[in-house]
Amino acid sequence: MNDDLETDRFLRLAPRRPPKGRFSARRKIPHNSLDTPCAFRDDTVRIAGKLLCFNELIMMPQYATIHGCRKWTMPNDEERLRKLPARLLKWYDKAKRDLPWRRTRNPYRIWLAEVMLQQTRVETVVPYYKRFLKRFPKLTDLAQAPVDDVLEVWAGLGYYSRARNFHAAAQKTVENHGGKVPRRLEDMLQLPGVGRYTAGAVLSIAYRQPVPILDGNVTRILCRLFAIKSNPKLGRTQKRLWALSESLLPRDRPGDFNQAMMEFGATLCTPKTPACSACPVANLCEALRLGKVEQLPKMPKPKPVPHYDVAVGLIWRRKRLLIAKRPMDVMLGGLWEFPGGKPEKGETLEEALHREVKEEVGLTVEVGPLLTTVNHAYSHFKVTLHAFHCRSGRGRPRALACDAVRWVAVGQLRDYPFPAGSLRIIRRLLEGPDPFGPKRSHGRWSWGGLNVPPA
Ligand code: SF4
Repeated sequence: MNDDLETDRFLRLAPRRPPKGRFSARRKIPHNSLDTPCAFRDDTVRIAGKLLCFNELIMMPQYATIHGCRKWTMPNDEERLRKLPARLLKWYDKAKRDLPWRRTRNPYRIWLAEVMLQQTRVETVVPYYKRFLKRFPKLTDLAQAPVDDVLEVWAGLGYYSRARNFHAAAQKTVENHGGKVPRRLEDMLQLPGVGRYTAGAVLSIAYRQPVPILDGNVTRILCRLFAIKSNPKLGRTQKRLWALSESLLPRDRPGDFNQAMMEFGATLCTPKTPACSACPVANLCEALRLGKVEQLPKMPKPKPVPHYDVAVGLIWRRKRLLIAKRPMDVMLGGLWEFPGGKPEKGETLEEALHREVKEEVGLTVEVGPLLTTVNHAYSHFKVTLHAFHCRSGRGRPRALACDAVRWVAVGQLRDYPFPAGSLRIIRRLLEGPDPFGPKRSHGRWSWGGLNVPPA
């Protein structure tokens, strides 16, 4: 088979005959026009007198002709497993981002970073990570702190069960391991909130143990490199992915390799529009060869995300607002919020608010004007919060369907951990013309000197 045909077959090109001889006159993408530097140069082909690497070649498949290139073959899985670690590590050494948790080998700090990075972007995590360590510089400081203090530092980062579990795990570490992060995988896995991924990341990075990791990034990379077409959430696919992750792990630099995989997934082999033209392992990638990069990994169709409207009461009494603490065993447990809830069938938002406040804190309220509407998305549902000013009648609020209630001045709200949706309501409240809420006289609401019709 001549070289032209072989390359066509390899690249799955349209059966169009490329121009003979010089192709530069018709080519759309010149050889050196790549906007990202090519990271891979050890397999090259000669096209019209120029040496092109694989990455450059795939940018111009319809015009590719090969003159005197060596036979091009795709590596098999064995070769892939052999070549990948060194290539990725070489790339990582050059391209890794300078992040605070990469400047330390302290297991507690590395563990904290791994917990915070779950489901959260690096840019969001960095300020929280610094703030957290300023408040709890050592694992023992965290273990001794009340969970409310931990939630307060975590407020706004989301997925609050991570904070509660991390706090509980720190206490168990002090109790059972003398405050030292365990070195054994089995011991790590006993701690609250620590799964195989977190344990692998901490042990490999902090203690250089050859323990593999598998998260969304690694799953995506492996599914593409090895063209794994089955649903990665299935048990048998998971087994194969874990085995691949373990086989790839170099014994001398397991932590760096695991970080290289995370970095590669976060910056190049991204879920949408991966940067294949700058990929250091492009010529090992089976999905690229098959033209199936966008289709892999083959995730199950996402379920439709439900949406809820929630009425929220800003209940005023003597320039103070009523806040309630969510029970520990529910979503966002331990955080504070303004009382309220979802309307039942046929109820208006105001009616729902009236009922929910009565059920939650035992107060009868007069619902006033709407302050703001806030949309917020959680991992498995979306909410629209409708925040109304309210005035409470006489009587003491009671924690009927919450863990605690408290009257607080607006300026004290920042001392309590609130979920992100409530924080946006507070911000809106502070921006308003009168932070002490609307006043009512002669049947009309007024707010900051403006007449506001009742909602
Ligand atoms: S070639 Fe593209 S899809 Fe394949 S590993 Fe590299 S970035 Fe990912």
